[in-house]
Amino acid sequence: MSTFATMHEPLEPRDVLLGRTTHVRRILPNKHRRMIGAWCFLDHYGPDDIKATGGMWVPPHPHTGLQTVTWLFEGEGMHTDSLGSQQRILPGQLNVMTAGHGIAHAEVSPEHAPKYLHGVQLWTALPHAARESAPAAFTHIAELPTYSSGGLTCKVFMGELAGKRSTAPAFTPLVGAEITLEPGSAQTIPLNPAFEYGVLSVQGTVTIGGTEVPQNAMSYLGDGLRDLSVSSARGATENSVLMLLGGAPLEEQIVMWWNFIGRSHEEIVEQRQAWNGDGIAWVPERFGQVASFDGDRLLAPPMPNIRLKARGRVAG
Ligand code: MN
Repeated sequence: MSTFATMHEPLEPRDVLLGRTTHVRRILPNKHRRMIGAWCFLDHYGPDDIKATGGMWVPPHPHTGLQTVTWLFEGEGMHTDSLGSQQRILPGQLNVMTAGHGIAHAEVSPEHAPKYLHGVQLWTALPHAARESAPAAFTHIAELPTYSSGGLTCKVFMGELAGKRSTAPAFTPLVGAEITLEPGSAQTIPLNPAFEYGVLSVQGTVTIGGTEVPQNAMSYLGDGLRDLSVSSARGATENSVLMLLGGAPLEEQIVMWWNFIGRSHEEIVEQRQAWNGDGIAWVPERFGQVASFDGDRLLAPPMPNIRLKARGRVAG
């Protein structure tokens, strides 16, 4: 028995320019809904021709209080960080960096990268008890647990879905999965009613719980769902691809600013100072250095003139 007429709250993306040439669709935090479970940041980008955009070029920058989860649909990247990790980033493979108290990393398109780059940059907010932990060694998982049924395939990259569980470290109950639907398929996926969920259509139009979700649109589906019906668009000739994010609602108030997550204005000021110091030549001991990167690190912008406020999962 599939759930029908699931609630759909559209999460409108906003266009954000990163660097000089890369446009991303920022979906989380959204004006009215800041998180889905602990998922607190979602940029969707591409497919971009890297000859036109220059590809991925993110010089060393810090993170605190979060995990970065990098997921590609197409293309290739290279990750380096201040713990000395170097990892090739490929489509369909999981890459997680747990920042804890502080880490720095850089991400670039390698030479001879494929023509198109298409992916999502996600963050999870670390809960209070885990956020001051030491930064963890980079997690890379090439072979992920997969659930298949009819023409549906779910690659579970974080947490648990349909009895398949990723071994990636997670600090709150959550799930992240890439779902592929063959043309003409209609299936039901079991869900955890204690989770809230959202779904992003990455390729093609999909019907989710009775409502069409066009390509690049995201719907918040709420909580209490025991299952979800998903089907490809009528007449589809290509696979449809979507991303499912979910988790136990995170009932903590957080401050997100630049690449930091803290709990107060003062914490963010302290983190910014620990990274910027007195300029480029400063050695940011809290975060370490990305030794392999040939170029300047990114400094944090000036603090805004207002005090940053801790916010919960829903605006208000
Ligand atoms: Mn980053």
